[in-house]
Amino acid sequence: MTIVIDRCFLFLHQTNNTMNVHEYQAKEILSSFGVRIQRGKVARSTKNALILAQELSEETGTSWFIVKAQIHAGGRGKGGGVKLAKGIDKVEEVVDSILGMDLVTPQTPPEGKRVHQVLIAEDVYYPGASEPEEYYMSVLLNRSTGRNMIMYSSEGGVDIETVAEETPHLIFNEHIDPAVGLMPFQARRVAFNLGLSGNAFKEMTRFVTALYSAYLQSDSSLFEINPVLKTSDDKILAVDAKVSLDDNALFRHKDFQELRDLREENPVEVEAKEVGLNYVSLDGNVGCMVNGAGLAMATMDLIKQAGGEPANFLDVGGTADAARVETAFRLILKDPNVKAILVNIFGGIVRCDRVAQGIIDAYKNMVDSIEVPIIVRLQGTNADIAKELIDNYGLDVYTAVLFQEAADKIQEALH
Ligand code: GDP
Ligand code: MN
Repeated sequence: MTIVIDRCFLFLHQTNNTMNVHEYQAKEILSSFGVRIQRGKVARSTKNALILAQELSEETGTSWFIVKAQIHAGGRGKGGGVKLAKGIDKVEEVVDSILGMDLVTPQTPPEGKRVHQVLIAEDVYYPGASEPEEYYMSVLLNRSTGRNMIMYSSEGGVDIETVAEETPHLIFNEHIDPAVGLMPFQARRVAFNLGLSGNAFKEMTRFVTALYSAYLQSDSSLFEINPVLKTSDDKILAVDAKVSLDDNALFRHKDFQELRDLREENPVEVEAKEVGLNYVSLDGNVGCMVNGAGLAMATMDLIKQAGGEPANFLDVGGTADAARVETAFRLILKDPNVKAILVNIFGGIVRCDRVAQGIIDAYKNMVDSIEVPIIVRLQGTNADIAKELIDNYGLDVYTAVLFQEAADKIQEALH
């Protein structure tokens, strides 16, 4: 039971309750809390990029620039979305090659993501007294210990999954006691485990302290900085930044709300959010409409058991009236992979016969656009009346009262 709840929670948490921002926005947030970053400016046209590169050069003294595609996905370097311009005269060519491209990385859909803006940043890998070094660092909530955790590694710049597989002993965790916060000895331990000494050691303890405080104060649910860089003159800074903000805390950060880039989000999910439905798009073929998150999770299991794959997670909440049911049907049917729809409602506070009437009304309104079988399972208050209502209406809707009946009907519908 615990496992089921845990998974449900994690699923909801990761899919629906975070807001991702672009690297340049993430860096602005970090910087506002005193975390040192690789400085840069965001450009939306080549002409604009040239002006900004000139400004950046005057402010930082850099003559080499790194141009980075701004999309909500990592692995951009591998996909050709991060390129060095060795001189201001190279900026135009490099920006032209990235801006407007459909960037494909291991984290994007196969068709890639369109690049609408690029970050022009100072090159911080300049040669000097020593080699620049790349580290990995993230801050997140560890649900099994119930504590925030700083996860870090000397092996930065590569996928942390690869490090975890090949050299797990090079990944360290620092758990933070919520009552006392990050202790100075813990920040020093991070610097020590990364093999630092002298000024770089001090810089790293400052970096870790500022980073953790930024995580707390911004109400984030994930920070991932890969790489954290030690420059050849021993400065520690964030070269890349992934920040996921906690949706539920956004009301405390009005200024973060405008950071949302709807172009990066699933359009059906955006629409669902606007009408107050809890919808997450998935890869399967059976659409589902359920009241309550727990029942929705159980319903997805039921679909899998019947040999299908859920096409979505959709919690219609407490008020399953005709308008809401119709909106939900419309959202589900936007997904061309949907071969059947399972409606699974438990009538506790809401009466099943009212939901059934809602389904009938919605169905009548859109009978031409529904080409897939609908299986309705209603259980709870007035379930029998509800079943009768639907059966008597002569609609192309199968009703079931038991979970198993519903599963059998899905199986039939899919074959
Ligand atoms: P990601 O590929 O989406 O994770 O994007 P990153 O921001 O991590 O950049 C990818 C890689 O570009 C980094 O791992 C670095 O090796 C490289 N890179 C980033 N900034 C600079 C820079 O200022 N100079 C040079 N030479 N390389 C850089
Ligand atoms: Mn990176």
